[in-house]
Amino acid sequence: MKVSRRALLALTGAATASSMFGFRAMAASKGTIGIAMPTKSSARWIADGDNMVKQFEAAGYATDLQYAENDIPNQLAQIENMITKGVKALIIAAIDGTTLSNALDNAAAAGIKVIAYDRLIRDTGSVDFYTTFDNFKVGVQQANSLVAGLKERFGDVKPWNVELFGGSPDDNNAGFFYNGAMSVLQPMIDSKDIVIPSGQMGMDVVGTLRWDGAVAQARMDNLLSSNYADKKLNGALSPYDGLSIGILSSCKGVGYGSGDLKMPIVTGQDCEIPSIKSIIAGEQYSSIFKDTRNLAKVTVALVDAALSGGTPEINDTTTYNNGVKVVPSYLLESEPVDVTNYEAILVTGGYYTADQLK
Ligand code: BGC
Repeated sequence: MKVSRRALLALTGAATASSMFGFRAMAASKGTIGIAMPTKSSARWIADGDNMVKQFEAAGYATDLQYAENDIPNQLAQIENMITKGVKALIIAAIDGTTLSNALDNAAAAGIKVIAYDRLIRDTGSVDFYTTFDNFKVGVQQANSLVAGLKERFGDVKPWNVELFGGSPDDNNAGFFYNGAMSVLQPMIDSKDIVIPSGQMGMDVVGTLRWDGAVAQARMDNLLSSNYADKKLNGALSPYDGLSIGILSSCKGVGYGSGDLKMPIVTGQDCEIPSIKSIIAGEQYSSIFKDTRNLAKVTVALVDAALSGGTPEINDTTTYNNGVKVVPSYLLESEPVDVTNYEAILVTGGYYTADQLK
């Protein structure tokens, strides 16, 4: 039979359309996933949200992605709304890990799977899984990098004068980062290789509510004016790039990084673009890379398995006790990044283009 080119095109078109609609119907049948992220003020959470939407949709789910701009009641309302709409699973990076218990009990009663994403949700039995990075190790990597930088830039001056910054006390990760870092730094403080001229130590004193860079900057201003009239700051432990940028501005404001006043070694986390540019410019010393593409990937795979009766993959069943239960977790590895390896890890690794870092 001879089929005209026109008829063939029409047929192919119909086949494509029907397979498209077939796929959509199948996608819709897998249901909607609610994704509650804390804020758009930090680029990492935007990347987390985008990566999850892309990957959940590719796996056949619809998504409802919401950001709460670091406002706790706002995040709670978004989550309650998702529960009412009948999502199949909730992926939550909590602003305050202790305030969601009631809503999550309702989610559990409705058979919705609850995943704590990157930040542990505390004080509830209604959380099924936790996907994150090895947070204690992140702190160890930050402190190791701080010490490497101190040796490199101030090898001839000892003891090194260092100040400590912590993350938001209501984020369970902040304590893990701090404890990981102190496992390296405390012995050096004990041996007097490092001194903390302000004497400010402990998460209750050095924490930075909501990970706010302006708060860290103001605290650094105070630390410098009250404790450094007759000494120089050599380093600051910073757990997050947004804080590092604030700390560095404060230091630059009083002349560090110009003349013979060397910039202190300042660590970070998340490899946000302003910080990588700062590393390239010789200001921030290091950051920690957490590949949000991989975190999305393990989260999507875990949720898909949990919803389709499979066995979700976890690799840690001991570390994360949320006050009610040990939450089965999947921990990923993070990588320290500095001026020597940012290109290989971030550019060759396809996370950023070279142009984005110019
Ligand atoms: C995340 C870090 C991030 C911080 C501030 C933490 O919970 O684990 O990657 O730097 O929040 O957003």
